[in-house]
Amino acid sequence: MRQLRLHLCAAGRQAEAGPEILGRLARRDPAPQSRARCMTPDLVVAGAGLAGGLIALAVRAARPDLQVLLLDRAAGPVDRHTWSCHDTDLSPDWLARLRPLRRASWSDQQVRFPKHARRMRAGYGSLEDTALLAAVQAAGAQVRWTSDIATLDAKGATLADGTRIEAPCVIDARGAEPSRHLAVGFQKFVGIEIETDAPHGVTRPLIMDGTVTQQDGYRFIYLLPFSPTRILIEDTRYSDGGDLDDAALAQASHDYARDKGWTGTEMRRERGILPIALAHDAQGFWDDHVSGAVPVGLRAGFFHPVTGYSLPYAARVADVVAALPGPLTTDRLRPALRDFALDRARQDRFLRLLNRMLFRGCAPERRYTLLQRFYRMPEGLIERFYASTLTNADRLRIVTGKPPIPLRTAFRCLPERPLLKEFA
Ligand SMILES: Cc1cc2nc3c(=O)[nH]c(=O)nc-3n(C[C@H](O)[C@H](O)[C@H](O)COP(=O)(O)OP(=O)(O)OC[C@H]3O[C@@H](n4cnc5c(N)ncnc54)[C@H](O)[C@@H]3O)c2cc1C
Repeated sequence: MRQLRLHLCAAGRQAEAGPEILGRLARRDPAPQSRARCMTPDLVVAGAGLAGGLIALAVRAARPDLQVLLLDRAAGPVDRHTWSCHDTDLSPDWLARLRPLRRASWSDQQVRFPKHARRMRAGYGSLEDTALLAAVQAAGAQVRWTSDIATLDAKGATLADGTRIEAPCVIDARGAEPSRHLAVGFQKFVGIEIETDAPHGVTRPLIMDGTVTQQDGYRFIYLLPFSPTRILIEDTRYSDGGDLDDAALAQASHDYARDKGWTGTEMRRERGILPIALAHDAQGFWDDHVSGAVPVGLRAGFFHPVTGYSLPYAARVADVVAALPGPLTTDRLRPALRDFALDRARQDRFLRLLNRMLFRGCAPERRYTLLQRFYRMPEGLIERFYASTLTNADRLRIVTGKPPIPLRTAFRCLPERPLLKEFA
């Protein structure tokens, strides 16, 4: 196995260099300025996705002296993957940082149910992977694509081709991984982005159109109007099972477009099966991760329990990494992130209870009624729900009043632990 401490320079930079420098590189005669750009990473992040990208941005902004290297097996951010969230999910600093990178920002949003429709004041926006990764590189972090990591440990990564890359701090941001410490339901979706032949007329995101026929759990359509003639139509199901019939959901999205009178060309398609947390033993997870690279992102359970979305959580995790005082090392970062995770899991206990009521306390075809009722609550509460900053008064308000499910059923949903045993 090739064993080297990687010095990053030259090759990945050739496109930026003038003819004279390219000549020097070809002669293995680096000019002083290209030698100055060589670096040994202080931080290696495995996975240049959402969590990895935000960590790189935050660390480079807070500690420009640290060299950050992201490794990813993909050839590049080529699929125009978008990550959306409510403006109120982000801290003012993160909103300011990400807003210029967004593909689209909207000043408000709406929801629709059979007996209730509402426009809401919170802004919404979609970040695109290409823009995020360009910003990461502009911030001075390096991304090494086509780097399939075979093994990862507290000191570095070994790529499938045998290359060894080491750093004082190693973070594992390689995306979702099943965990015995997490019992989940599923949010499944297939979205089609179409260029319409004529303006579609949708001016703000429709976060949930729950007026559609209920099927396979709670079903709704999610709309993002990227331009007057470009719209994402996503058929979404909150289901007990993780199987996804791509063709059927894509067809359902096309049928929705047809019903609205939108004709056009499909430009892009996305699909997802996101975990919805019914029960989580964060302590158990971190007890299993006392060594090795420090896990972040979906694999560490850093996502909103009810939506499966992780952008706001990834931003907060990035803040923890960037704010770590003193040297940034794997061993010093681990307890900081574990403490953050345990605190987060405690605060999210109520959201997981709501999920159990939705998935275990309510017949699949009636699940939409819980959401319909929820969207009658004050806007501030709804914003805090998505931002995972509910107060005790909010929690009380959500579960009091005319019970959405029979009390006896609600009580059966209270304990979390038995579910973990069921899923183990
Ligand atoms: C289609 C879709 C749409 C979504 N939309 C939203 C949204 O709008 N808002 C939101 O907040 N959340 C959204 N999510 C949910 C979640 O936030 C995303 O899945 C998010 O990308 C998870 O972040 P992550 O960093 O944990 O993993 P990822 O962003 O998936 O990043 C993991 C990276 O690790 C790399 N990798 C994996 N294994 C290896 C290996 N062995 N070697 C090297 N590299 C490796 C992968 O190539 C990938 O780039 C969406 C999910 C999907 C699937």
